[in-house]
Amino acid sequence: AKREGGNRAVTFDSSLHEAALQKLEIEQDLHQALERGEFEAHYQPLAALPSGEIVGFEALLRWRHPERGLVSPADFVPLAEETGLISPIGAQVLRQALCQVRAWREISGRGLFVSVNVSACQAARPDFPAEIAAALAEAGLPGEALLLEVTESIVAQSVAIGHLEAVRRTGVRIAIDDFGTGYSSLAYLQTLPVDELKIDKMFVSQLGRDTRSSTVTQALIQLAHALSLTVIAEGVEDERQWAELRSLGCDAAQGYWISRPVPVAQALALCGWRVRS
Ligand code: C2E
Ligand code: CA
Ligand code: CA
Ligand code: CA
Repeated sequence: AKREGGNRAVTFDSSLHEAALQKLEIEQDLHQALERGEFEAHYQPLAALPSGEIVGFEALLRWRHPERGLVSPADFVPLAEETGLISPIGAQVLRQALCQVRAWREISGRGLFVSVNVSACQAARPDFPAEIAAALAEAGLPGEALLLEVTESIVAQSVAIGHLEAVRRTGVRIAIDDFGTGYSSLAYLQTLPVDELKIDKMFVSQLGRDTRSSTVTQALIQLAHALSLTVIAEGVEDERQWAELRSLGCDAAQGYWISRPVPVAQALALCGWRVRS
């Protein structure tokens, strides 16, 4: 790109134009995907510590693209958030997930829950609390069957926080996802409606390798417990991490060592499962 009369805007313009076009294209693709039902959730089990019993599943969004195959959320969730399409997509995931957990509860006879990721902009929508209530009613499930995962960025959205408070009064639990990686202030822990903390895999992956990670993880668990919050560790990739989390008193764990996220057809087999170590 060339420079004209010292005006750099020309260079920026053409690349901006390209980026805008590409964005528009993906946005149209997302719209179409929503209509065609190309979004699906995969499910990753959560195991209780110290028992090793599977107690729930996290629903993780996938886009089954006709040409590109299975597209991971990192490749389209940011744009879906930007365009607001994450709200209808998220609503679909929520209904699917609740429908699944209802079936798993019936078949297994156990009080399993499903955990669903919620973007801040989705939670801020005026009809969010009603949507949750309707989805639970449709599935015939109590609020306890649902855990909503939000990230620390939610603190910037007071409307969303109000909605979470309303939803929480119906028995739905709220977890802070990726805990420790976002806003550095701990002050919001006193004010946010929250039941659980998910310790980010960034800390978990270094367990047993770096003593500082162990110290940080231990402190996070103690802090959470002092605030009567439950702790889930994510990204458990080996037995050593599992054993260390167990000895640190962590309440539940999730990660490739237990199971990768699996398509819905494979999840049922994991319902009655127990991690042995
Ligand atoms: P997240 O909520 O932090 O989800 C955990 C991610 O870590 C998932 O990636 C999961 O597959 C991956 N993971 C699980 N166990 C391990 C492990 O042992 N090691 C490693 N290295 N990774 C592990 P995934 O499925 O690609 O999802 C990426 C992100 O996309 C999620 O991060 C979440 O922020 C977002 N996302 C997923 N589904 C939804 C959704 O339905 N709605 C919204 N708004 N965001 C979603
Ligand atoms: Ca999550
Ligand atoms: Ca996470
Ligand atoms: Ca994440």
